[in-house]
Amino acid sequence: MTTAPKTIALIAHDQKKDDLAAFAVAHRQALSAHPIVATGTTGGRIIDACPGLDVTRLKSGPLGGDQQIGALIATGEIALVIFFVDPLTAMPHDVDVKALMRLAIVYDIPMALNKATAESLLKTLG
Ligand code: PGA
Repeated sequence: MTTAPKTIALIAHDQKKDDLAAFAVAHRQALSAHPIVATGTTGGRIIDACPGLDVTRLKSGPLGGDQQIGALIATGEIALVIFFVDPLTAMPHDVDVKALMRLAIVYDIPMALNKATAESLLKTLG
C-alpha cells in the first residue's frame, strides 16, 4: 500500500475508542488534511464519527493491525501515530503494541499516547 508522506495512524484500545472518536470530531479539520490509516475497529468508529474523512482501515489490532501500522512506519509512510492507550486493562496483544512503539522509536516517528500529546503533535504536522 502506498500512502502520502504525512499519513496519520489512529489507534485506540476499546476503553479509549469514545475518547478518540471525540478527538477526531474536535480535530476533524486538521485531520482532513491528511490520509489516515487506522486499526479495524478504531477506523470504523472514526468513519462513523467523521463521515468523509480519508480513512483506510487495516486489520483489527489484535489480529495484526498494530503490526501493519508498524510495517508502514518501517517503510516511511507514517508521519504521526496517535494511539489512545488504556493503561488499566491487560491486553492479549500487548506484545504487538510494544512492537509498534518500538518501531516508532527506531524510526523516530512522533507518537502520542494520550489526548494532550495528540493535540500538541497534530499542530506540528502542518
Ligand atoms: P482495534 O485495534 O481498533 O481493531 O480495536 C486497536 C488495538 O487494540 O490495538
